[in-house]
Amino acid sequence: MFFRWIVLAIILWLTWHVARRLWREHQKRELQAQQPTELSTQKMLRCPQCGVHFPEQEGVKSGETVFCSTRCAREHVKS
Ligand SMILES: [Zn+2]
Repeated sequence: MFFRWIVLAIILWLTWHVARRLWREHQKRELQAQQPTELSTQKMLRCPQCGVHFPEQEGVKSGETVFCSTRCAREHVKS
């Protein structure tokens, strides 16, 4: 009878352990799924050369100014 209780305790402990691990992985996956939405709300910049709005991440940096493309960056230097 005592042996049965030990087996039951081990089963319960294992179930709790696995459930906790699955829950943590689930939370991690949810956190990763949230990241793209954060990227979509990223800062928008205006190109000083052509006036087009673009995400800061996609901009081309030239000195202190950020342009929408390398072409705009080059044209801005010329003018
Ligand atoms: Zn531009």
